[in-house]
Formats: sequence, C-alpha cells, structure tokens
Amino acid sequence: MPHSEASPVVETAPTEREPGNPRIVPRSEHCISRSNIDSHALKVLYRLHKAGYQAYLVGGGVRDLLIGLQPKDFDVATDATPEEVRALFRNCRLIGRRFRLAHVVFGRKVVEVATFRANHGGEDDGAGEVHADGRILRDNVFGTIEDDAFRRDFTVNALYYDIGRFALVDYTGALEDIEARRLRLIGDPAVRYREDPVRMLRAARFAAKLGFEVDPASAEPMAELGPLLADVPPARLFEEVLKLFQSGHAVASLEQLRRHDLLQYLFPRADRALKSGDSGFEALLRCALANTDRRIAEDRPVTPAFVYAVFLWPHVRAVAAEQVEAGEPPVPAWQHAASEALDAQQAATALPKRFAGPAREIWTLQPKLERYTGKRARRLLGHPRLRAGWDFLCLRRDSGEDLDALCEQWRQWMEAEPERAAPSEAPAPRKRRRRRGGRRRRGGGGGNE
Ligand code: ATP
Ligand code: MG
Repeated sequence: MPHSEASPVVETAPTEREPGNPRIVPRSEHCISRSNIDSHALKVLYRLHKAGYQAYLVGGGVRDLLIGLQPKDFDVATDATPEEVRALFRNCRLIGRRFRLAHVVFGRKVVEVATFRANHGGEDDGAGEVHADGRILRDNVFGTIEDDAFRRDFTVNALYYDIGRFALVDYTGALEDIEARRLRLIGDPAVRYREDPVRMLRAARFAAKLGFEVDPASAEPMAELGPLLADVPPARLFEEVLKLFQSGHAVASLEQLRRHDLLQYLFPRADRALKSGDSGFEALLRCALANTDRRIAEDRPVTPAFVYAVFLWPHVRAVAAEQVEAGEPPVPAWQHAASEALDAQQAATALPKRFAGPAREIWTLQPKLERYTGKRARRLLGHPRLRAGWDFLCLRRDSGEDLDALCEQWRQWMEAEPERAAPSEAPAPRKRRRRRGGRRRRGGGGGNE
C-alpha cells in the first residue's frame, strides 16, 4: 500500500491533508475503547488482521463513538477482496452486483465488510451510473485506504480505526472538523454534489443528527445545485426522508432543510405553505416532528404514513376546501383531495403503497371525526386507523385549531369501547391482518357513509 503511516504525529493539521500523509492518533490520545465496539465487529476485525490483511472500523461507527453517540452499526474496511473475506468466514455471504460487499452474519446481526475502493465519480447506492456492458463496473475498482477515504462524502465519515494499532487514521482533516463541530465535504463541494445530489440531503441530515454546522463552502453550492435532486429516483429520496424524519432528530432535520432551502425538493407544497407564513401549519409540523422524536426516544413505533400525512396536509386541506366550496359533500371531497395530494407527491418522494393507504385514511377520517355522532360514530370506532386519525385530530388541536371538545369526545367514546378502538401505540398496525379485516369492515359500512 502506498500510504505512509509511519509517523505517529498529532500536530495541528492543515485543512486539506496532503495525500499519503494521514494524521495518526495513537490509542493514548483518543477516546475509542474496544469495549465500546460491537463484539461481532471486533471478531471480524481481529480475524482479518490475523490473516495478514488490513482491517479498520470506518464511517459512521467511528464518528459516533468519537462524538459520544451510540453507533447504529459498525462497518469494516479492508484490503482483502470480497472473495478473500468469504474464505475467512463460514458465516459470510457476498452481496451486491455493482459493489460486491461481504456480509458476515451473526444470527440477526450483520457486519458489513467492504474492500477499499477508489472514487470513480459514483455514489454509494446505485443511482445514476449505468455501464453499458454491465460487467466491468468502474465503481468496483479496488483502491488503497487513501482512495477509500477520499471517495467518501464528509470528512467526519472518513475516519478509520486501525485494529492493528488501536489508532485513528485521518486522511481528510476529520478530527479538526469534529473539534470545530463542522460538516465538510471532502474535495470540491460542487463536484461532489454533481456526482451525487443526495449528498446535499445527507449534509442536512448529519448536521441535524450531530448538531454540527455545515461548512460555508459545503453549503454554498446548494442554492444552485439543489434542483439536481429532481433527477434522483423518488424511491431513493423516500429512503432519505425516512432517515431525516424517523431517526430521532426530525425537528433538527426540518431546520437544516429549511436553512439550506432543500425542503422544496422533498415536499414542495409544505415548503410553499411555510414560506407563505402559514403559522398554523408550521405549528402542526413542529408538534408532529417533536412528537415523532419523542416516540423514538421512548422506543415507541413510528410510521412514515403519519409523517407524510403531516407534510402533505396543506395540499389535502386546500383541495378538500375547494371541493366543498364547489358543492361536493365533505367525505368524497376529502377522498378526492387525498388522491390528488398523493399523486402530486409521486414526482418528488413517492410514498410506497403500504404507507399511502394509511395516510389516506388518516386524512379521510378527519371530516368524519368532525361530523359523526350517534350510530355513525359508533361504527367508526371499529375503523382500524381510528387511533391514528384521532392522533392527527389531536395534533391539529395542539397546533391551535379549536378541536378541544371534539378530541375529548372521541377519547371518551374510544375509552368506553376499548375492544373496538385500535390501540394508539401502533400507528402502523400490522398490515396484512388489519388491512384485510379493515377492508371488509369498510366495504360493509361504506355504502352508508
Ligand atoms: P448513519 O449513522 O446515519 O448510518 P453513516 O455514516 O453510517 O451514518 P451510511 O449512509 O450508513 O452513513 O453510509 C456509510 C458510509 O459510507 C458513510 O459514513 C460514508 O463514508 C459512506 N457513504 C455513504 N453514502 C455516501 C455517498 N452518497 N457518497 C459518499 N460516501 C458515502
Ligand atoms: Mg450507517
């Protein structure tokens, strides 16, 4: 390997490091202890090392340990090829066609082992680059640890923990950036965003998660290059939406997205509502996201259906109001509005069907919750999504709508017949069983509604 790791110097580093000259921080000078590293990841690291390969912990795991967060997962980087990794571990399977990765499996746990790769202008999960012959995949070109560091997105994501010396290896100035709580793209930011526009969203996400500031030079091109997000497949954006809003830092994510004017590419109508000063919606969104963060902190379930129900609310509400104004009865007006909002969202971040259905029900329950009494209310108690609909009604109340009495009324009705009302702890009820039951019930009651 051409990189030199000979000098264990910890000096004040210049901002961009000379290639081949990493900063090495010995065990005595950093806080990462093996006792904080997942035992399975350690096992993998040791076995690779013993077999004569380089073996490092890399990416989010190292970053989070240094910052004092609990890492979600521990990834390993090595100079062993995927086949060589497989030869070392019986419990190993190779995955991926474009990037071959080794998964070492321990029961339900997987340690991902990636061979050092060089940057060929692609991004990590497949968008954008299609090679005509489909065989020689340029991203899959193996490289040195140094190549591997410079192809990563942010400096803080490019730190290596060397199991041979228990030392940290920093090629990109990550340690200084962590010190300064700064999120900085490696290389020329505009070039890196053009390679993969999702990096703009990742900037907002990591700034939110870590409580860092995006470095001005990394923030600056977003205004011009943001529109490139329109070319990212909606399914990939959906994944990013989940990471932004269902990882326990949704409120901070919204702030970062707004600061960098990126919300428009994920939820155009919500962005417009916020920019037009719709304070009711702003309050609703804040309440909802704070609530999501709280649920995650308490280990309670959250569902993308609810997050989307909130973000698309300005659209649904506006269309429903128009329809009612034009003489349509409320229930079909809301059905229509739900379809229109979901269709429009397809172009940005499509919501998979299994979540679109529940989101639709949350909305279409609103006019029913506002109007139904007596027999019809009683029948509604059997609705599988009633709790989620009621949660949404309460959210509207919390954000300033005059719905106090109504929320209380429904709470009492549900409490009086708990066996009929679905539990509020499960906003994403187990799909299959409930859906089937729900369909039958709705089918039966639908004609009367
Ligand atoms: P999290 O804790 O949210 O999982 P992470 O840092 O592990 O954060 P991942 O998306 O799991 O983030 O990616 C793992 C690593 O792969 C990153 O730390 C980064 O080094 C690299 N990486 C991921 N996506 C990209 C990308 N689009 N461009 C460049 N490097 C990337
Ligand atoms: Mg990760």
